[in-house]
Amino acid sequence: MYVDPITKRDKKLSLKDIDTAAPKKVNKEEALKQQEKLEEELFMLQDLMFGAKKNSVLVVLQGRDTAGKDGTIKRVVGALNPRGVHVASFGVPTEEEREHDFLWRIHRHTPRLGEFSIFNRSHYEDVLVVRVHQLLPEKIWKERYDHINTFEETLAEHGCLILKFFLHISKDEQKDRLLEREADPSKAWKLNPNDWKERQYWGEYTEANEVAISRCSSEHAPWWVVPADAKWYRNLVVTEALVKTLRPYRESWVKALEREGKAAKAALEEYKKKEKAK
Ligand code: AMP
Ligand code: MG
Repeated sequence: MYVDPITKRDKKLSLKDIDTAAPKKVNKEEALKQQEKLEEELFMLQDLMFGAKKNSVLVVLQGRDTAGKDGTIKRVVGALNPRGVHVASFGVPTEEEREHDFLWRIHRHTPRLGEFSIFNRSHYEDVLVVRVHQLLPEKIWKERYDHINTFEETLAEHGCLILKFFLHISKDEQKDRLLEREADPSKAWKLNPNDWKERQYWGEYTEANEVAISRCSSEHAPWWVVPADAKWYRNLVVTEALVKTLRPYRESWVKALEREGKAAKAALEEYKKKEKAK
C-alpha cells in the first residue's frame, strides 16, 4: 500500500516526520495508469455496494486551507456513479447548528446503506479550529474526542465503512497555492483573506491535528496521513485506500445480490403459476 492507515488509538504521531512530497520511488506515469485501474475497480465496487445495501462509505477529508479537499472530492466523485454519492461541506456553524450538539449537523449527512458520503471538513473541526482559537472552553472540546469515537463506532456498527484522510501539505506549498489563487481569476472564488491569518497558526493546527488523529484512530475508522503536495499522488493514495477498504466486502455483496436475485426469480415463478391457475 502506498500509505498505511493508522488503526491504533493514542499512538504518538509527529506530522513533521511525515513527508508531504510524493516518494521519489513512485513514478508519475505509472501512477496515473494505476489510478485509472483503481478507479475502474472502485466504480464496480460501488455498484455492488449500491445493490447489496449492506454497507455504506463515509469519506472524511481534513486538511489546512488549500490542502486539496475540493480537488480530491472532484476526482473521487468523478470516478463514481453520482447517483450514490452525497457531498457535504461544513463551514462555520449557523445559529441553528450552534444551538444543537456538535454532531447534529454531521449525523444527518452520513450515508444511507448503499451510498457514499464525502465530507469536506467534518466533526473534526470541533476539535481543530475550536481548539486552536479556544472558541469554547477546554472542558467542552476535550470531551469531544470520546464523543467522536463513540459516534463513529455507532456508524460502523450500522455497516458504515469510514475512511478519514488528512491531506498533508508543506508550508511552502500552501504559500504557492494561496498566491496562485490570488493570481488566477478562475480560482478567485476560493480566495479567503482569512487563510493568510490562519496560516499564522500553522504550529497550533499541526498539534491539534496530531492529537485528533492519534486519539481518534481505530480499525473501523482509520486515518491516513496523505502526502498531498503532488495532486496526482494524493489522488492515488485516496483511491487506493478506498479500493482496498471496499474490496474485502465484494464477495458478501455479490452473495447478497444473488440471494436477492433468487428471491426475485422465485417470486416471479410463483406469480406465473398463479396466472396459469386462473
Ligand atoms: P472553507 O472550507 O474554505 O469553506 O472554510 C470553512 C471555514 O469554516 C473554515 O475556516 C473552518 O475552520 C470553519 N469551520 C468549520 N467547522 C467549524 C466549526 N465547527 N466551528 C468553527 N469554525 C468552523
Ligand atoms: Mg477555504
